[in-house]
Amino acid sequence: MTRGEGSFVRDHVTRPVRADDEEIYRLMKPGGTYLDVPEHLRRYRSDIFDDKYVRLSFEGLSRTITAHIAKDGYWYIHPREHRTLSIREAARIQTFPDRFRFAGYPTARYRQIGNAVPPLLASAIGESVISALGTVSEGSADLRARTVPESSFRDDLLAWFSTNRRDFPWRQTGLNPWETLMLEMCLHRTRADQVSQVAERILHLGGTPRQFIENFEALRSTLSTLGLHWRAEKLLEAARHIEERYAGRVPDNWQELVTIPGVGDYIASAVLCFAFGQHAVLVDTNTERIARRVLGEEGERSRWRRRLALHDLAGPRGSSPEWNQALLDLGALLCTARVARCEQCPVRAHCRTGATSL
Ligand code: SF4
Repeated sequence: MTRGEGSFVRDHVTRPVRADDEEIYRLMKPGGTYLDVPEHLRRYRSDIFDDKYVRLSFEGLSRTITAHIAKDGYWYIHPREHRTLSIREAARIQTFPDRFRFAGYPTARYRQIGNAVPPLLASAIGESVISALGTVSEGSADLRARTVPESSFRDDLLAWFSTNRRDFPWRQTGLNPWETLMLEMCLHRTRADQVSQVAERILHLGGTPRQFIENFEALRSTLSTLGLHWRAEKLLEAARHIEERYAGRVPDNWQELVTIPGVGDYIASAVLCFAFGQHAVLVDTNTERIARRVLGEEGERSRWRRRLALHDLAGPRGSSPEWNQALLDLGALLCTARVARCEQCPVRAHCRTGATSL
């Protein structure tokens, strides 16, 4: 071995081995534990310390390297040699590159290694966070390939939205949280233009949970024009629930919102976003369709993967009310379930599906 800085292996120094320990090591097979040590050689109670000694195996996984390795190396007996691991061997298991130096006495170096988050694990977590935030990781071709250039996507979408937005009564400012929740429940599985026609009357008669309960009979006939006849009863349950549990005030957190009858993940997120100004992604078939087309991802995905994809699209500035409305309008006007009008689309330059249709 040369001693050039690139090839010299530091810290490959092992601890001295007691004679009685060496006798034990010689009797242990790779993968063996303290239970394999003959009775007359045991210094510790085997009913408490059944794994006081562990001999590693070249075929198996190492035990997790912990700071305890600084005290003794009995959990890390070398698979072939009758000794415990050196500092450098422990560091390699923790995925430290050989150029990495540790400081202090040998026990301090072992402790640093045992307390460390393995660099490759930290790297994997960091890349996942970067991916979730929608930013591009330098040096990660894979991430670059699958991450949308969020700022341009966002800017182009919002610029288009500023002149193409759909105006609905529920998009006017000044609605209270109950009004937002009520109209979101009306929009469930119902066309926006249908709800738009009766929204003013619903808001007039049911502007608070109490008013909704008091005017329910009049509201029932109006709500029946939207279809889904169970909806009126569900709204009445929701109004009573909010009156009884929250003194008429709609809660401002997801955990409590989803306990309200008729309120699921989408409506809870919509209320948080549009009524309380919080950043919340809206996961439904329309937003998911856009994310899938833009990111070029095929096939079924779990709900958390769909949520993650929408966070990817929103980027670090998050799912603001304006962002969510823009995404919903894109899905309603251009990127519809029936047809993708890519030639008119403001985000085509950032869309994998749009790129293939050029
Ligand atoms: S480019 Fe086409 S597929 Fe992509 S978001 Fe726009 S309409 Fe949808």
